[in-house]
Amino acid sequence: MPLRLDATLLIRKIRNLRSLTFRRHRVKEKWAASRPKHPPTSLAQQHFDVSYNTQLGPLWPSARIALLSERKYGALVNHFCNDAFVEDLHSQGCTDFITDTDREVQAGQVSECKVEKCDDVVQQQLSPPHLNPNIKCFVFPRGDITRFKPARPDMSGLLRYYLMDAASVLPCLALDVHEGHNVLDLCAAPGGKSLALLQTQAIGFLCLNDASVSRTLRLRKVLHSYVPKQLLSHERLRITSFDGTKWGEIEQNTFDRVLVDVPCTTDRHSLMEDDNNIFNKSRTGERRRLPQLQLELLLAGVVAATPGGEIVYSTCTLSHIQNVAVVEQAIYLAQENHGIQLQVVDLRPLTHMFKNTFHFASDLHLGELVVPHLAANFGPIYMCKLRRLT
Ligand code: SAM
Repeated sequence: MPLRLDATLLIRKIRNLRSLTFRRHRVKEKWAASRPKHPPTSLAQQHFDVSYNTQLGPLWPSARIALLSERKYGALVNHFCNDAFVEDLHSQGCTDFITDTDREVQAGQVSECKVEKCDDVVQQQLSPPHLNPNIKCFVFPRGDITRFKPARPDMSGLLRYYLMDAASVLPCLALDVHEGHNVLDLCAAPGGKSLALLQTQAIGFLCLNDASVSRTLRLRKVLHSYVPKQLLSHERLRITSFDGTKWGEIEQNTFDRVLVDVPCTTDRHSLMEDDNNIFNKSRTGERRRLPQLQLELLLAGVVAATPGGEIVYSTCTLSHIQNVAVVEQAIYLAQENHGIQLQVVDLRPLTHMFKNTFHFASDLHLGELVVPHLAANFGPIYMCKLRRLT
């Protein structure tokens, strides 16, 4: 007679087995009583399912599955290390997505690209953007989910690379730092993007700020692991812990470049980790105030930039309210409250170059968005670049 086990029988058997387990070997289920009925990760999932289904439409199911899967990292190369470890990265099968980009994409297809942003529909000649040759970030090919080994130190004790979401390097490339520039990183901790900016070795003066004292300490730790001591104690680098929204009251019209990488719902973290999760019930007020905080930070960054200076706003959320809507409000309020006219800088030449590495949303009218995808599981990263005309 064939062996047939129906579901009820199977459950009964498991229960019986359990009663046979020695008491001291049983898993205590007491924790279940203290476990929240709705953990923050489930609340985040419910929230995103409603809002992103509407916002992203057919893109959401694939982004959702990518967000719930293991993310991909990039290895930001540390130029302050002297040994030849880059060859080792190449031999593992990964490439620097910035310099090893398909030349065809860089030169040919970029030159003719239809631009449909900010209500204008124009045919523009888009030349490849200037990229600082010192920012290098290695990634494994599309679809390859090999993990990087943890970075080892070189002879002087500095770590060879910094593991981060490779899409986080894009706002630093978009910032386009030139020789001698004064740069402000308004929300800098724990320091991935600051480190990428330091790699350019072009900065005249760099101010790294973060309102959180504990996170500023983490930033200092990161810098000590990657940057030579003499550079850290140099007067051209300043680390502060001010409330960035008040920056305009301290320094106005000062910086050639400002990076405003704001706190947000950090979608990937909110879906995967219950610890320090902004969807925790006790943090509802903080979460609802995020767009206002983001707006104030961006406006402070705009005021801190010089006329002619450039500002990059970035987040790691897919949320339209925290991305496009904040930038639209900031453009309006900069003019209304500060008499500052802003121009949106088209980042499509940049994103077009990296279209084989990242999956970009195609229908955004303001800024660029890296949407997570199983074959290229980076992001989310939103970025928008503004230039001060006055
Ligand atoms: N740029 C960082 C990096 O690449 O490692 C990540 C920045 S994280 C997305 C946002 C940061 O903003 C947090 O470290 C947080 O402490 C900081 N922050 C929150 N409110 C702030 C404020 N009012 N002024 C300045 N920084 C703030």
